[in-house]
Amino acid sequence: MALKVAVNGYGTIGKRVADAIHLQKDMTLVGVAKTRPGFEGRRAVEKGFKLFVAGDGTKEEFERAGISVAGNLLDLLQQSDVVIDATPEKVGAANKPVYDEAKIAAVWQGGEKASVAEHSFNALANYPECFGAKKVRVVSCNTTGLARAASVLRRDFGVQHWEATLVRRAADPGETKRGPINGILPTMSLPSHHGPDVRTIFPDLPIATTAVVVPTTLMHVHVNHVRLARPPSDGGKVLEAFRSTPRFVLFRGSDHLEGTPQVIEWARDLGRPRNDVMENVLWEEGLKLDGEDLYFFQAIHQESIVVPENVDVLRAMFQLESDPLKSIERTDHALGIARVAT
Ligand code: NAD
Repeated sequence: MALKVAVNGYGTIGKRVADAIHLQKDMTLVGVAKTRPGFEGRRAVEKGFKLFVAGDGTKEEFERAGISVAGNLLDLLQQSDVVIDATPEKVGAANKPVYDEAKIAAVWQGGEKASVAEHSFNALANYPECFGAKKVRVVSCNTTGLARAASVLRRDFGVQHWEATLVRRAADPGETKRGPINGILPTMSLPSHHGPDVRTIFPDLPIATTAVVVPTTLMHVHVNHVRLARPPSDGGKVLEAFRSTPRFVLFRGSDHLEGTPQVIEWARDLGRPRNDVMENVLWEEGLKLDGEDLYFFQAIHQESIVVPENVDVLRAMFQLESDPLKSIERTDHALGIARVAT
């Protein structure tokens, strides 16, 4: 029988996760929950998703806006096996007692502290650790990108030391009240919190991160310098390791994908829903091995990179699939990102 999944919080991440769950054969999307009416809630109903009222929202408010609702959050939780919380940072943690009361398994997002759950999750990195878990956190977009890359580098070459500078997008495209719109903001907590967050998955990874925020909404870019423990004879072998791992896309110079605008344009040309790029994006020319020192850039689409992980985490928690690579394949096939020719 298909796993019954609720999604609470229907914004940037929640609407994408709901679509992804809806596409999986072994899962059923019971419904989505939202606090306020608006175009996203209306669209959910138009797509045939059941909409439930959460937080301090009211049924009357939705009905006045002409959006029909199927009940409240508790009704949704009662009909489901698991809830994916995609509410804003800190709201997810505040929802924990509600999920405990409803005796339902829960998945949180990276805006919450690691302590909200039993485990932090990344599909390539620690899938089996979450077998049977009832409370798991899918790590943030930046941490997901770093954890995926770490999975490859640790496995094939070992990591002695890693420094990454995260060039972070200022806001998501729909967030008109965030900035900066002109300026570069260094993140003054040094090193940044991202390194410790990666260590919620790889406790012994010697990684240190710093971050700056820049006026763009498209993607983050990571600038990485990794000292490898077992460096290969040439950088081509590192490229091959990334290329042969799911959820990595590599572009060549001849593709003329100079930066993040072209990556998003590529996703548009593929007809990807919402221009989503759920893979880590690397450039062949943007990777160099100098002795034991590896340098590479990777771009991370913050709005969508965690979406496939929110599917795999359910297969791990409910042991619907014991092999992480098979879960990844099923997820990616359903999402249309299984293997793309670049
Ligand atoms: P968002 O603001 O786009 O969406 C959150 C949604 O939850 C909104 O629709 C909001 O109205 C709704 N909401 C607010 N209070 C609620 C409540 N009490 N109950 C139910 N719904 C409520 O936020 P987002 O960007 O989707 O982020 C969600 C989580 O995902 C956060 O933890 C965030 O840190 C994490 N995350 C965000 C990104 C990103 O780049 N946007 C990337 C990775 C992880």
